Amino acid sequence: PVPVITIDGPSGAGKGTVTQMLARRLGWHLLDSGALYRLTALAAVRQGVPFDDEPGLVRVAASLDVRFEPTPAGGPVRVILAGEDVTAEVRTESAGDNASKVAVIQAVRDALLQRQRDFRQAPGLVADGRDMGTVVFPDAPTKIFLTASAEERAQRRYRQLKDAGLSVNIDALLDEIRARDDRDMNRSAAPLKPADDAQVIDSTGLGIEEVLGKVMAAAGQ
Ligand code: C5P
Repeated sequence: PVPVITIDGPSGAGKGTVTQMLARRLGWHLLDSGALYRLTALAAVRQGVPFDDEPGLVRVAASLDVRFEPTPAGGPVRVILAGEDVTAEVRTESAGDNASKVAVIQAVRDALLQRQRDFRQAPGLVADGRDMGTVVFPDAPTKIFLTASAEERAQRRYRQLKDAGLSVNIDALLDEIRARDDRDMNRSAAPLKPADDAQVIDSTGLGIEEVLGKVMAAAGQ
C-alpha cells in the first residue's frame, strides 16, 4: 500500500507548516483535511444552508466542487471552490470556527471520508487533521500527534496575524483556541485524541526546523 504519515493535533500546533515542509521534502502528496471542513462550512453559508440543517450540510459536503492547485514556486496551495479562489477566505478564524461546528456532525464526516482517502496516491501522502490516524488512515505506518500548550499556540497565531498586518487581541485568541479544543476533543464524532499507536510530539518552545526534525525522525526519514 502507498505509505501515509498522519499528523493530527489541536489547532495551532504547527501541523499545517510541518505537513507542507515534510510533503515537499519527501516529494509526497498532501492532504489538508481541515480545508474540507472549512470549505463545507463556507459553501453552506454561500448556499444559505444553516448549520443546524444536517441533511443540507451532508448534501453540501458530498457535492463540494473544490480544486487544490499547487502554485509553481512551491508557495501555498490555491483553494478553488466552484471556480472561485477562496484561498484567503478559508484560512480566517471564523472559517475555522465554522468548520469545527459542521465537523461535529458524523454524517458530514462520512460524506468527506472517501474524498480524503482518494488523496492516498504514490509515492506517498502526508495527511494533516484531527482524525487522520484514528479514522481516515488507521493503517498508516507513521502516526504523529503534534501538540503544544494553548498559550504557545495562541502566541504563534498572534504573531502570524500580526505579520499579516492584522491587529488582534491575544486573550481573545487564547479563548478561541480553548473553545475550539473543547469542541474538537469533547464531541462524540471522531473526537480529537492520539491514535493508540501515535507518537506524541510536544512542540512547545521548539522552532519549526526542530519540530520537522523530530517528525522526520519519528517517520524514520
Ligand atoms: O485544521 P483546521 O484548523 O483547518 O481545522 C478546522 C476544523 O475542522 C477543526 O477545528 C476541526 O473541528 C475540524 N476538523 C476535523 N477533522 C479533521 C480536520 C479538521 O474535525 N480531520
